[in-house]
Amino acid sequence: MGDMIRHMPKIDLHCHLDGSLTLESVRKITGRDVAPEELQAEDRCRDLAEYLKKFDIPIACLKTGEALKIVAREFLLDVAKENICYIEARFAPLHSAGEGLNSRQAVEAVLDGLAEAEKICHVRYGVIVCAMRHHSQEDSLAMFKECREYLGEGVCGADLAGDEASWPMQNYRNLFREVKKLDYSFTIHAGECGNAENIREAAECGAARIGHGIAMSGRPDIQRLCIEHGIGIEMCPISNLQTRAAKSPDHYPLREFLDAGLKVTLNTDNRTVSRTSITREMEFARNHCGVTDEELLQLERNAVDLAFADDAVKHELWKLWNH
Ligand SMILES: [Zn+2]
Repeated sequence: MGDMIRHMPKIDLHCHLDGSLTLESVRKITGRDVAPEELQAEDRCRDLAEYLKKFDIPIACLKTGEALKIVAREFLLDVAKENICYIEARFAPLHSAGEGLNSRQAVEAVLDGLAEAEKICHVRYGVIVCAMRHHSQEDSLAMFKECREYLGEGVCGADLAGDEASWPMQNYRNLFREVKKLDYSFTIHAGECGNAENIREAAECGAARIGHGIAMSGRPDIQRLCIEHGIGIEMCPISNLQTRAAKSPDHYPLREFLDAGLKVTLNTDNRTVSRTSITREMEFARNHCGVTDEELLQLERNAVDLAFADDAVKHELWKLWNH
């Protein structure tokens, strides 16, 4: 079984580039050796704020086109080591934009790095551009418009991330009406820290996928809504335990969501900050949620269905789990 997980081809649909910097990237960018603990969160953080402290170095690193290119390149080479065959890497261009770099250039740099690595490791990828809840909607919409040029040319979708407790989903209805008009497929972080109504709002806004969705545990009404709309649930167990979005490993709602018929996928969220990989997430699912071999394959097939990839890539991926 351990071998099966290690060798099987894998997909990661919910992975933040800034939470997944390799130590090698940080060394190249800062010129110093960084201790792993400076980038990695504890198994159980006090709260989300303590977890988010681990993003200080990565965010400071991602301020130039050259740095973004290095990070993206090393990232794709790194995920290839656990036999990832397709990954959607997400990042917030506005975090990198500033003097001398706009959102479009930030995306270009990430795409350059990924393309360079793909030639070596052959991992397929898409980039999801994230709006942050604490940024103004005007700036977020301008960012989505700027990055629109790369939709279908490396960029595959849009996302909304950030503190959902302080900025509830209902504030973003207008933004996502515009995002839809721009023809982006999108996912929304919702129900990570407590409020199931954010999931309802995200579903009603037209999200194809929900990031986390933990808060709909024990809420069959909202689960039904997601099932009726064919919405995918991007679950990230290790991260959810570290941020205390989930109470304990044995109460993690993966089993509940699978049994309810939700279209679930397994993801890493932040490979470096959470010290995780799809391999580790799968082992967690097997050990704590009673997920069987067949169900692990089903989770990967769900990811193919839900990927924001074009049909040719999906077809290529589909063949990996259906032969
Ligand atoms: Zn996330």
